Amino acid sequence: MKKQQIQNLLPFSLAPAFAGVMVWYYDIYVNWNSSIFPFAVAASSLAFLALAFSVIWPGKEKLGKKCLQIFALLLSYAAVLLGLSILINNVIYDNKRPGASVAMRFVLPLLALLVILLLIKPWRALSRKTKRGMAISLVVLACGFVLFMAIPANIPINAGEFVSKPEVPVEVEKNFSIEGFSIIYGPGAGVTEIAAAGILADTLSEITEDEFIAGEAAPTGLKEILVRSTADLGSNGYRIMARGESIVIEGGQRGVVYGAYRFLEKYFDCHWYTADLRVIPRGPAMIAQVVDEQFIPPFEYREMDMLSRADVTFSAANGLNGNNYRTMPEELGGTFGYNGLFCHTIINLFLRPDEFFDRHPDWYAWREDRNERVPRQLCLTNPEVLAQMIVEVRNQLEYGNGQPIVSVTQDDNEDFCQCAECKRVDEEEGSQAGTMLRFVNAIADDIKDDYPDALIDTFAYMYTRRPPKYMKPLPNVIVRLCSVECCFAHPLGDSDCAVNAEFAADLKGWSEISGNLYIWDYTTNYAFYNCVFPNFGVLQANMRFFAGHNVRGVYAQGNYQAAECDSEFAELRGYLLARLLWNPDIDYYAEMDGFLRAWYGGGWQYICEFIDLITANAGADKPHNKMGIYINPRENDLLNLTAKQIAYADTLWEKAIELADDETREHNVLRSRLSWRFWKGCNRVAEFDRWKLPPFRWPAASEQLYNDFIAFGITRFSEEFMLEPPTHWWGTPDSWRAWGKR
Ligand SMILES: [Zn+2]
Ligand SMILES: [Zn+2]
Repeated sequence: MKKQQIQNLLPFSLAPAFAGVMVWYYDIYVNWNSSIFPFAVAASSLAFLALAFSVIWPGKEKLGKKCLQIFALLLSYAAVLLGLSILINNVIYDNKRPGASVAMRFVLPLLALLVILLLIKPWRALSRKTKRGMAISLVVLACGFVLFMAIPANIPINAGEFVSKPEVPVEVEKNFSIEGFSIIYGPGAGVTEIAAAGILADTLSEITEDEFIAGEAAPTGLKEILVRSTADLGSNGYRIMARGESIVIEGGQRGVVYGAYRFLEKYFDCHWYTADLRVIPRGPAMIAQVVDEQFIPPFEYREMDMLSRADVTFSAANGLNGNNYRTMPEELGGTFGYNGLFCHTIINLFLRPDEFFDRHPDWYAWREDRNERVPRQLCLTNPEVLAQMIVEVRNQLEYGNGQPIVSVTQDDNEDFCQCAECKRVDEEEGSQAGTMLRFVNAIADDIKDDYPDALIDTFAYMYTRRPPKYMKPLPNVIVRLCSVECCFAHPLGDSDCAVNAEFAADLKGWSEISGNLYIWDYTTNYAFYNCVFPNFGVLQANMRFFAGHNVRGVYAQGNYQAAECDSEFAELRGYLLARLLWNPDIDYYAEMDGFLRAWYGGGWQYICEFIDLITANAGADKPHNKMGIYINPRENDLLNLTAKQIAYADTLWEKAIELADDETREHNVLRSRLSWRFWKGCNRVAEFDRWKLPPFRWPAASEQLYNDFIAFGITRFSEEFMLEPPTHWWGTPDSWRAWGKR
């Protein structure tokens, strides 16, 4: 090989090598965007062709030169487009930083490739036209780059833009004195009436610093608060009435307790925000005129699993009654819920494979793809399976915890039975809910006479979500419909969001055939617990949608592991969900404001505005995919914020920290801000931006964020993963995870 040929070889081999290195670099460290891949492949291929033609096949140098020219032209056009896109991005589209960052990924390799081409050899080989094109493209590219660097990461935005919400003092005339009132219940009162009277007496004593006493007495109608039970409001309803000089609070089994809390909330502005944070304002024993009110909650079963879930006072004050996360004492009305496990029971509680699979493999699901029985679901048309399940369910009812609902629910996988008979039924019914519902109905029918109050619960979940064509649930069957596939940037009833429209159709289908429709809803990001999840705009709309479609019970599943990772708005979300479960028509934003004020202190309005900002932009990605419950923070940027909005959001948090009343509130603000910093880190914006001066501050920002997670006691990353320090700080925080136990 001649020296000349080696010289020829050099640029051509450098170019693909460089492209390869850049792809590798971006893939690993810079959140590689797949759109760079076709470009790298095209560039590498052309370079290799040029190499092949000019070196390996003598006499084809002309073709090699042609390839090289096309290659150079391609680079020039790409450079012009990129330069323009950065200019447009920065200047016209309000500097939408994440988009600009994506564009920046192309700039460095392009610049480097052009420089290599120009420096080493081919300049002389190019035509004048090509040279001119390359020169222009370099200038445009350089302009775009300079402008990009010139705009600071944190654009100082005058926080004066912030307009605080006018706090209109609610002028309620308090002209009714309850000073000296006795709190009474009649002879033979039940434990919940006595407890409700006690709650009133204790809290009124605390408010007024006078002594209110609860006791049994015959009503006189004079200066008393009478607590009594009534049969006409179900077990959850209550009624508050003014009767002459006295007040009557009455309700069902636990409704009378709810009535007492409602009275304190409405007339004395008392709130039970979390297990540890209650607000009991001090003041005289004066209230506004009592206006008669009556309320029966639309949901008989109300379950929520966030941080304060186990606290009985929080649960009673906010109306939670499910039994999965709390044991309510009888005097607070006890619980209403599940006998045994409340989900995935068919093989985890009842027909356990370790007990039955060896002896009865034909009880389990036949899978076509594996051509064998798998112990992951049951064969629901096998009569022996039904017979054994009836035995198991009867045992549960006989020896279980006495709760009315027995759950007969599929396991958490898609391995439903595909044997000939199961397949036939499912095809006939147009859904795997066909075999499931026939199976569950048969159990419900068998037990109904011996256990008239019992309910058999099953899922409409994943493959059983669509209602069957013919089969209808029996009156003692609960169908629990799960929204796992849905978008939570848009309300479930929003027909413009495709995934939600499908769910809404299934919900309407079930509500037409089921008298006991329950919902298992999802309210957090299970793959990224520590990232902001902007679903505050849908919580109320969804709960109203359920209530409006005959739903009788809701489990609002949230971050049930928040004890290990409460960096997002776990407490706020828990409170709002409890309130909405009780009454979907509450004044949602007033409830939120009240919580924020109590939890974050003086700077609460700034956090309120932050929530408004992320809520307003949720689901604004175009074309819209979905904001699912496993969404990566980088997907469609999740929050859809411009650089200006990002910088502004930073100032909102700064303000909230500055104005927090005390250490506890400041701690609350700082902890919630972690989820915002996590999102920024994942999206390489603000202090995590790689392209801003001083250089290389993003690794330090990442390390600081990780250390703060640890300092705030956060040890969990997601439902499946624990928080784990990375080997270096160049990556984004979405990689700080290690396999962990649930
Ligand atoms: Zn089968
Ligand atoms: Zn959507």
